[in-house]
Amino acid sequence: MASPTPSAPPAVGWIARTLEEGGYDTWAVGGAVRDAYMGRPSGDWDLATRATPREVQKLFRRTVPIGIDHGTVGVLARDGTMYEVTTFRKDVETDGRHAVVSFADTIEEDLARRDFTVNAVAWHPLREVLLDPFGGVGDLERRILRTVGAPEERFREDYLRILRALRFAGLFRLEVEAATWTALCSLVGHLPALSAERVREELLKVLDADPAPGRALDLYASSGALAVLYPELDALRGASSEVVGVDRWTHSVAATAELPAGRPFLRLAALLREAGGDARAGLLLRLKLSNAQTDETALRAGAAPLPPSDAEDRDVRRWLSSSGSSRIAALARLDLAWSRAACRLGGHDRTGAVVSSWRRAKQVRSTAPPLAVGDLALDGRGLISLGLPPGPDFGRILDALLDWVLDDPSRNRRELLEGKALELAGSDSADG
Ligand code: ATP
Ligand code: MG
Repeated sequence: MASPTPSAPPAVGWIARTLEEGGYDTWAVGGAVRDAYMGRPSGDWDLATRATPREVQKLFRRTVPIGIDHGTVGVLARDGTMYEVTTFRKDVETDGRHAVVSFADTIEEDLARRDFTVNAVAWHPLREVLLDPFGGVGDLERRILRTVGAPEERFREDYLRILRALRFAGLFRLEVEAATWTALCSLVGHLPALSAERVREELLKVLDADPAPGRALDLYASSGALAVLYPELDALRGASSEVVGVDRWTHSVAATAELPAGRPFLRLAALLREAGGDARAGLLLRLKLSNAQTDETALRAGAAPLPPSDAEDRDVRRWLSSSGSSRIAALARLDLAWSRAACRLGGHDRTGAVVSSWRRAKQVRSTAPPLAVGDLALDGRGLISLGLPPGPDFGRILDALLDWVLDDPSRNRRELLEGKALELAGSDSADG
């Protein structure tokens, strides 16, 4: 099978020409070159050069010091894109966690410190020459993932490479070569030494991906990485699900495949659906996501399924109130993915029912019923003007009022709520 020749955007040629005219050897490297040989649309084009960061900064008018310590300068091209230009680097000193970089003289040295043969390829955009010292293109054609050099050594230098291997093999449908796989599996116990941020970004890249993350996630499981990093998810393996003969892990992973690429948090919610509340919270905490991301994901994962389309209005309002009315679409997508996955795995097809539920939830929402305490025609100040003593009881009274209004939205009138509030306050003090 002939491999397609990489075709870099014109800006890559311009950057390379500028550097070459300055006397510096310059190559397109890494992921974009790999993707081109796989016939996939290339992501970011990165360049490697003999020029030092300072020299790069001198040659271009618009630069950004992205990671000067790592030798990386961002060059803003006329096409509006920023390209990363990184000085050739050689063996990076590491403690498995942090890298200490020293610069190299040649592209060959630079390629030798890269993680996998398929990533250790360089393309000269002007001379149109491929540099592939470790046989990466052949490995791509035979669909093999292997480290550059001795696997155990390379994984020990940076344990993140274990997770990168699982991601690349899973997403690109590569077979992990035997020695690489053996070393990788024997070292998963070191993964907790990685920073939470790097582990999280890897997981999000898997979940963000097109095609679906299923194969990469299954490699997380079969390598043992899942048990080490995400025991809450590993516990779903072998646990029986609503689909006969299918475990919860398989169902959850299948659901991620039914959700769109580019929505990693929606897929994460699907993955966390079958984990218990505490397990979910623990895992999300370890990922160190933002508070908003953590809360949203936990809510989506823990939300009750949409009420059936023949449910009473009040039940739909209660669901909208507890799930958040702005969340209908996300939760419906989750329910849909869940039932599509079940169906694909041989279970009942509930897809039609979910679509009807979705329609019904939207219809009830469109009547704009009060769904939150803030929607009530009476607030804390209103309670004070009734002569009630301010205090923690207010929250309880307002919640009870909302509950009363969810049963019947026509009750959301100030005078009715005042009467009910006095009744609630009275019954409370009577109870002592
Ligand atoms: P993608 O961008 O799709 O995640 P990529 O291969 O471009 O894939 P990047 O993280 O963008 O991955 O890194 C660019 C290149 O840098 C890689 O192709 C690889 O050559 C090298 N590289 C990145 N991370 C490491 C690492 N931890 N160890 C060794 N080389 C690495
Ligand atoms: Mg990249």
